[in-house]
Amino acid sequence: MNIILLGPPGAGKGTQAANLVESRNMIQLSTGDMLREAKASGTEMGKRVADVMARGELVTDEIVIGLIREKLEGDKKGGFIFDGFPRTLAQADALGELLAEKGEDLAAAVSMQVDDETLVARVVNRAAEAVAAGKEARADDNEESVRFRLTEYYKKTAPLIGYYYAKGLLSTVDGLADIATVEADIAKVLDA
Ligand code: AMP
Repeated sequence: MNIILLGPPGAGKGTQAANLVESRNMIQLSTGDMLREAKASGTEMGKRVADVMARGELVTDEIVIGLIREKLEGDKKGGFIFDGFPRTLAQADALGELLAEKGEDLAAAVSMQVDDETLVARVVNRAAEAVAAGKEARADDNEESVRFRLTEYYKKTAPLIGYYYAKGLLSTVDGLADIATVEADIAKVLDA
């Protein structure tokens, strides 16, 4: 079973994807994680995207579609969780084609809804927690960048809610609930 976790920055996609990896042996495909790895290991592509990411802009469709294409060649275990991908209509079309080529499909796109001010507070808090734990905060986890990421989300990613609704694949969960409740709500969608 392949699913998309759809939501703005700070909605809890990464947390819920990690739960599903544990509980259902699924594979988390986070393009944000892949891009941060490319940056950390100093690849050419990593260097090219670093500034774009720090500003909170989207990297090109071509780059992220290429990353996903590569991962779809690997083991799929209990299925893929697309986390932070697709983020544009072009990416959504490309994902549909890549899955169809493999004889695979999407079981659900789960939209995680959280109000904007909570998102900003969560992301700023995530940065503070990283620093308190002696780790480096994400370069884009500051208020200015998260507000820009939200605008990018509303302009480019939110249209995917309509896109997947029209395909009969959309489910919505309340991302403001506590982590265990969100987890149970997602489980209901997957087991429906
Ligand atoms: P995330 O960890 O999902 O919040 O992603 C962090 C940053 O990586 C985003 O703000 C974008 O700059 C970039 N990024 C991640 N996934 C995508 C995507 N699917 N399309 C374009 N840019 C992406």
